[in-house]
Formats: sequence, structure tokens, C-alpha cells
Amino acid sequence: MLDLLIVGSGPAGLATAIAAAGAGLDYLVVDKDGIAGSIARFQRDMPFFSTPELLEIGGIPFIVPNMRPTSLDCVNYYRGVAVRYGLNFRFDTQIASIGGGRGAFSAETSKGDTIAARNIVIATGYYNTPKKLGVPGEELPHVSSWYNDPLPWFERNVLIVGGKNSAVEAALDLWRHGARVRVVHRGEKLSTGIKYWILPDFENRVKDGSIVLSLKTTVQEFRPGVSVLRDGAGKVSEHPTDAVFTLIGYEADTRFLSGCGIDIVEETGAPRHDPGTMETNVPGLYVAGGLVGGRFNNVVFIENGRRHGKQIVDSITRHRSVGR
Ligand SMILES: Cc1cc2nc3c(=O)[nH]c(=O)nc-3n(C[C@H](O)[C@H](O)[C@H](O)COP(=O)(O)OP(=O)(O)OC[C@H]3O[C@@H](n4cnc5c(N)ncnc54)[C@H](O)[C@@H]3O)c2cc1C
Repeated sequence: MLDLLIVGSGPAGLATAIAAAGAGLDYLVVDKDGIAGSIARFQRDMPFFSTPELLEIGGIPFIVPNMRPTSLDCVNYYRGVAVRYGLNFRFDTQIASIGGGRGAFSAETSKGDTIAARNIVIATGYYNTPKKLGVPGEELPHVSSWYNDPLPWFERNVLIVGGKNSAVEAALDLWRHGARVRVVHRGEKLSTGIKYWILPDFENRVKDGSIVLSLKTTVQEFRPGVSVLRDGAGKVSEHPTDAVFTLIGYEADTRFLSGCGIDIVEETGAPRHDPGTMETNVPGLYVAGGLVGGRFNNVVFIENGRRHGKQIVDSITRHRSVGR
């Protein structure tokens, strides 16, 4: 029986583990992938918007030669922190469901066993649950909601759906590695939140015809090798397509959260919790990090999500001392 099971080894889960270790709790971090599994799947070498000191955990300095670390720098940093603190992990293990209550939780794993814990923190982020277009063919194997690597797409036709940072950065990366890229966005303009040092690069590639940008355009259907688009005037066109990346955002997995008994706030899709302790309506079951924003992943970033662990461990130790 653990004092604390931490589900997810992203920055929030790791910060919680460091706080738990500091308080002498018997804890375990379980992740369905490896360490910082979400960031490890981001576009490789994508520069973060945040500067490194905002991404630090456990008081370990994050030193990089550039102003902004890349996704690879981040994974390596978090790996180093985990080694420095000697954190307890179990990888390649998904938590499928959680039952019970404070003092006697039981978490069922994808490996068919259960883990018993007095308290649980869910720090699973939102990256596993992409928003969907809801069009036919979205489930085809050449259509993905995650972009990581440009190399397979040299001299291939790639369609990107989206008008924010992820879409624009993926488009540039793919074009620089020899892909033929079209970006489709339903809006009249790209997002105003695009990184200021990326936008001119993208706009110039569109101007010189290197990347095709179709605004006020929606996807009607994906078929093997073909994307069917509809423009603002209602004109339908077919485009040869080897790969599609639908980079339109992600949101917390409310099905998993409500399956654990956590109430979901209807307007935001956020798990109901006390912001002081991060405890949900299920006593002993806590939330931390990016998933706290529900459908809005511009609420919790690493810089605020990394503080949740200390709040949670303080709450658990308070309950322990009352229980003695
Ligand atoms: C493209 C992009 C760029 C970003 N840039 C920035 C930035 O510049 N600055 C910033 O602060 N934030 C940035 N963010 C947001 C940042 O990545 C998230 O806020 C942060 O990763 C959330 O941390 P977390 O620990 O809550 O969750 P995550 O980092 O998502 O980690 C969740 C972990 O849980 C694991 N997991 C999920 N489900 C299960 C399960 N059922 N069982 C076991 N394990 C599970 C996953 O494998 C993963 O390792 C960016 C996000 C994206 C998508």
C-alpha cells in the first residue's frame, strides 16, 4: 500500500514526486510511456515559448545555450532531475481505471495488475486526447493528430490542418526537410498567438509559394491518398495527400476523469477541485498540471503546474497528522 500513486511522469508528476520524496512518503510514478512522455512526442527540437527557468523543477538549474530550450532539451533535463533525485518509476504502464477512496484506492493497470495506494494524483496532461475535426476518414492510418518527425515526408504531399503554432511550426519543419506542404485553416487569418519569431518566416514561405496556405477552408473528407477541401466560396477540390496532420489542439480526457468519480465542470471540461489543495470531489484523489484546465490548455503551463505537487503533498501530510 503506497502513500501516494502519481499517474504521469510529465513536469507536474515529477514535481509531485520530488515533493513526496521530500516529505518521506512512500510513492510511485507510473507512466504509460517513458519519462515526460508527452514532451518526448512533441516536434523534435521545437523551441519552447518559455525560457528555461520557468520550466525548472526541484531547484535544479536548467542550463541551455539558447534563450529557449527545445523539446529534446526539456526531456533530457527532466530525465536528469529524475536521476538526481532517484525517483521511483514504473514505465510502459497505463492506468486504466481508479476505484476506492482515501486510504484504500485501487488503480488497475494496462498490464492487468492493480496498484493499491492511500492517495492518488492524476497528472496525465492533455496530449493524449486530441480535438477531432469530425469528418469522414479521420481514422485512416495516414491521418494523425501528432507531428514529430519530418524525415519520412521528403518529396511527399503533406496536408496540415490548423492555424496556430503547432500547425505553422510543423509546416516549416516539413518544408525545410523537402516535403510539399499545404496548410488548411478554417479562419480568415492565422492565430494572433503565433510565436513572433516564427510568423515572418512562415509568411515569407507562403508569399514565395514554398508553402500553400488555404484560409477560410475546411476539410470535407479524407480518403486514402486524397484530401477533399471546401473553400470559403463553397468550391470543393481534391488534393493528393500522403500524410495529414490535424494540429487543432488537445483537451483533458474527461471520460477517464469522470470514470474515476471526478465531477467535470460543464463550461470548461475541467475536473472539479479545490485550487488550494488540488483535491477533487473524491477525497484523497488529486489533480495536477495541464489537465486542470480541461478544454482550455492555456490555463496551466509548466510554470504554474509545477507548483501543484507541493500543494498536494502538504494536503496529504495534513491529513496524515490529523489521522494519527
Ligand atoms: C506544442 C506544445 C508546445 C508547448 N510549449 C510550452 C511552453 O513553451 N511552455 C510551457 O510551459 N508549456 C508548453 N506547453 C504545455 C506543456 O507541454 C504542458 O503544460 C505540460 O507538458 C503539462 O505537464 P503535465 O505534467 O501536466 O502533463 P504532460 O507533460 O502531458 O505529461 C503527462 C504524462 O502522463 C502520461 N500519461 C497519460 N495518461 C496516462 C495514463 N492513463 N496512465 C499512465 N500515464 C499516463 C503521459 O505519457 C505523460 O508522460 C506546450 C504544449 C504543446 C503541445
